[in-house]
Amino acid sequence: MRKKIIRAFLVVILVFGISGCSTIKTSEDSISKPSSPTSSSQLTVINSSNETRQDEPSNNLSKLSSVQEAQDVQAVQAVPILYYHSVMQENGNELRMPPEQFEAQMAFLQEQGYQSVSLEKLYQALYSGGTLPAKPFVISFDDGYLDNYTTAFPILTKHGFTATVFMVTSYINGDEFMSWHQLKELVANGWEIEGHTTNHPYLTKIDSSTVLSELKTSKEQLEKELGHSVDFFAYPYGDLNPTVLKALKDTGYLMAVTTERGWADAKIDAWHVHRVYCYASMGMNEFSRRMLNPNY
Ligand SMILES: [Zn+2]
Repeated sequence: MRKKIIRAFLVVILVFGISGCSTIKTSEDSISKPSSPTSSSQLTVINSSNETRQDEPSNNLSKLSSVQEAQDVQAVQAVPILYYHSVMQENGNELRMPPEQFEAQMAFLQEQGYQSVSLEKLYQALYSGGTLPAKPFVISFDDGYLDNYTTAFPILTKHGFTATVFMVTSYINGDEFMSWHQLKELVANGWEIEGHTTNHPYLTKIDSSTVLSELKTSKEQLEKELGHSVDFFAYPYGDLNPTVLKALKDTGYLMAVTTERGWADAKIDAWHVHRVYCYASMGMNEFSRRMLNPNY
């Protein structure tokens, strides 16, 4: 009898012990995904308070950091998606953002408590009931210039942000553009590489079968090389029509961004998502104005 009781006791310990361990292991696994290497730099504060507009509410950064997890619960209506091309000094070229100005913009956003989010997270929040941090925004780069890797990547890492690149696949490994190796490194650091066609054509000026192959070939190549699904697209030159929309849906994309002015908004469908254009001569006042007003 005594032996039976001891044996039963051992069985109980064994069963609960094992299931308890496996539960802990599972939860550890689920939180041990590679985290952004930038998270430790979240508290790096660059003093740009002189550039802060007077009508903006001031933020307590340390307080914000301590409750960041808890803040990731709001359903949002509109979010700014910044869009850049190149981050490089070239006088007179509006598409190339001078690195010092880009750095000042990112320092401003970090100081104000903004958190960059992926397009995946934005898509879930706008169209599938997902949630976002309190002050979310998206950074995007069109075409895949080399300086996105050499210049923008270190600046964004320093400020705790990640970005999305809309890559033209025929440009990959080109002189002024990123290599597969560099793109893979960005992906490993939390960036998204998404679709922007194979050859960057005006999609409304080519026949429908070419449109389909421009979308399909580039999507498949990125997915094969980078090992993640490519669900988002940027229209070259913001050029679209019903044929292009149908081809996008047929190819399996979930959302597409335009060059239309304004914030991404849940009231607008997933194929006409607006973005905030960032250009070389905009200045900090115009930049912050665009971050404050969805209909700037
Ligand atoms: Zn482009």
